[in-house]
Amino acid sequence: MVIIKRKELSFIEKLYLPQIFQALSHSFRAMFQPRITRQYPEEPLPTNEVTRGQPRLTLLEDGEHLACVSCGLCEAACPAYAITIDGHETERFIEREPERFEIDMLRCILCGFCEEACPKDAIFMSDELELADFSRAALVYDIDKLKRPREELQGRIDYFYQVNDRWRTPSSTS
Ligand code: SF4
Ligand code: SF4
Repeated sequence: MVIIKRKELSFIEKLYLPQIFQALSHSFRAMFQPRITRQYPEEPLPTNEVTRGQPRLTLLEDGEHLACVSCGLCEAACPAYAITIDGHETERFIEREPERFEIDMLRCILCGFCEEACPKDAIFMSDELELADFSRAALVYDIDKLKRPREELQGRIDYFYQVNDRWRTPSSTS
């Protein structure tokens, strides 16, 4: 049989006075520390290339066509079934492109799997976090709402490759 000896509390400890004074001193010191409350939305959230905001589609250098070849890998990888793609043939060198590419932003959980899955650098997570509209339909983003010049996403693209390079062994890059 194990006997557990309880610590005898002093009279002061039984009144919880040390804990109360300790808590009050924390509160008092906090009153003089700089405020960290962010006045959102007047003061926007800080973002950088690590921010995993809403996914966006990159444009080719011509600034007109999407880099997407409508392979459907991002659609298959999306755990939230947020992506819908209909592809069609094209006369251009890439041969296929999406005629419909939609992301339901209400379903999207910003996981980044689409970014990971894409073999064509055609979809990346942007730093766009804000999402508000007056109907559910308006939050299903089509190509016009999703497309961005590559330069706008360049910071994220560089970060993405820097992170993935950690997993590349010399033999896998040769
Ligand atoms: S970020 Fe995740 S949930 Fe959102 S579209 Fe991409 S794969 Fe789907
Ligand atoms: S994985 Fe990339 S290329 Fe394939 S459909 Fe998605 S965005 Fe387009």
